[in-house]
Amino acid sequence: MPSSNTAALVVAAGRGSRFGDDLPKQYLDLAGLPVLTRAIKALREHPGIGAIQTVIHQEDEHLYRAATAGLDLLPPVLGASTRQASVLAGLETLSVAAPTYVLIHDGARPLVTADLIDRVLAALHVADAVLPAVPVIDSLRAVDADLVIGEIARDGLVRAQTPQGFRFQAVLDAHRRYADSVGATDDVELVRRAGGKVVWVEGEEDNLKVTLPDDLPRAARILGTAARRYATAMGFDIHCTEPGRPLVLAGVGIPSPFGLSGHSDADVVLHALTDALLGTIGAGDIGVHFPPSEERWRGADSSMFVRHALGLVTERRGKLEHVDLSIMAERPKIGPHRPAMTRRLQELLALPADRIGLKAGTMEGLDAVGRGEAISAQALATVSFPS
Ligand code: MG
Repeated sequence: MPSSNTAALVVAAGRGSRFGDDLPKQYLDLAGLPVLTRAIKALREHPGIGAIQTVIHQEDEHLYRAATAGLDLLPPVLGASTRQASVLAGLETLSVAAPTYVLIHDGARPLVTADLIDRVLAALHVADAVLPAVPVIDSLRAVDADLVIGEIARDGLVRAQTPQGFRFQAVLDAHRRYADSVGATDDVELVRRAGGKVVWVEGEEDNLKVTLPDDLPRAARILGTAARRYATAMGFDIHCTEPGRPLVLAGVGIPSPFGLSGHSDADVVLHALTDALLGTIGAGDIGVHFPPSEERWRGADSSMFVRHALGLVTERRGKLEHVDLSIMAERPKIGPHRPAMTRRLQELLALPADRIGLKAGTMEGLDAVGRGEAISAQALATVSFPS
């Protein structure tokens, strides 16, 4: 099915009143990404889906922008007072592009899989609407307060999920027709009432809707460690020694008759660390971000380079997990300064001490470092990203 014929509508205009949280549930964090971002990404990454239209609450525009940065989506439509009216607003906007099919998905269902989307799309060839659903396993009982008052046969019952698939014109017509009448709980029901043929396909037990506070930890367990991608990158730097300059290593001033030559404070350790951090996001090296030709970096505190690189990592939702640093210097002795350096790195990186490796050694009199003509540093940075 050509993707340009199939649009998706993601409904995220609700306020999540059952959650008791300040943040609407679709914007809560699920293993490093907002629930809504995961719901949209699953659709965006499916090759069978073209345009994606979202419907959001007017008070959530800033949350929405942050949650969808970098995703290729149509501009959001602002929702109405009911879900049904919000869906209609989204469909009316989509109708300009006149897709043949549309999937309508709940922004609070973050775990939808490509397989499930495939099943819904495939069944659209034989129906006006397709409902993914799962069988009712538990037996059903009627209750009144704390009393059990009866049994309900579960035969012939399924639990409805989204994304629900539609012939676009069928669902638009049904929504227009019932716009002023009592709401149905979902869109397939409107198409069914309007006389359309509605079929169901197998949903997925894990395709849960984040509704109650317990649902978030459950969704995180389902995602498991597969929810994070790890990147480890290296950095290396070397600077010549220069008599009379202050020596700064890992952000700490060290008494020494010589320092290192360089445009900034020449902190070879923080330069190597900056390159390692940039490496985890494929963002070039320190020279790309801070050209030595620029006068304003003269004598600069190199911690600003680290902060900048860390800011870029954070922008890409990366979380620094660990750094490992190695300093090669014939003199002065690094050991006595290691505690101060570790403390400085803890502050700078917001990492506990057991996630900061800091080693020092000499070159045994060999090469330029060994002859005391230079000091070098190597760094490894490990960053995790939501995937
Ligand atoms: Mg350097």
